[in-house]
Amino acid sequence: MITENELKENLEYVKGRILEAVKKSGRKEEDVKLISVSKTNPVEVLEYAVNAGVRVFGENKVQELVDKIDYFESKSMNDIEWHLIGHLQTNKVKYIVGRVKMIHSVDSEKLAAVIDAESAKKGVITDVLAEINIGDEESKFGVAFEDAVSFIEKIAVFKNIRVMGLMCIAPFVEDPEENRKFFSKMKKLSVDIQDKNIHNVNMCELSMGMTGDYTVAIEEGATMVRVGTGIFGKRDYSQKQ
Ligand SMILES: *Cc1c(COP(=O)(O)O)cnc(C)c1O
Repeated sequence: MITENELKENLEYVKGRILEAVKKSGRKEEDVKLISVSKTNPVEVLEYAVNAGVRVFGENKVQELVDKIDYFESKSMNDIEWHLIGHLQTNKVKYIVGRVKMIHSVDSEKLAAVIDAESAKKGVITDVLAEINIGDEESKFGVAFEDAVSFIEKIAVFKNIRVMGLMCIAPFVEDPEENRKFFSKMKKLSVDIQDKNIHNVNMCELSMGMTGDYTVAIEEGATMVRVGTGIFGKRDYSQKQ
């Protein structure tokens, strides 16, 4: 398990590189949000992160996410933002609506409909991103790039969700430069969709970039980067979640 000091150092390093990328691309620091991806880490480690100033966490599994939200709520720490970044099954939507700041992984009309219905039931509006499959064969989830516009038009009709932008998971590569073309394609898509002025759609967020490639993603226009390993160290999947 990572120590509190190691985590602090990692976090400072990541923030420094984000700042460099932001400056290099002539953007503003406040235009890029760092999402600390805490999946597989125990709550003790998340507390280290909170002590170091982290207030935005990303998780990819509903049960784990809900357990962590419960834990921090039981400690009356209510200023933490939770983002669901992993694949979401429709039968689990009810556990997270009203508890998360944003769902990054909406990739079907059916899922959007269920989030909409659950949001109506709870009297909330849920912010979502459309997950786009940027074209590599390995990724199982996400709407095909070519179908992105029609998908957004379809989910825009739901009144209890707000479409805030796009998300993608780029391929795992040794050299982050290999993913630049995907990130720039995503940025262009987001601008194209914004230009269509679709009611209830505001392409203000672009969630892309992970430990291996977040600086390149920022240079290409990411507004949210999802960094796990870079902050928390290598994940240990041997522990039961
Ligand atoms: C795990 C995960 C990340 C973080 O990955 P790292 O390479 O550890 O930074 C980002 N996005 C999603 C969707 C993830 O599941």
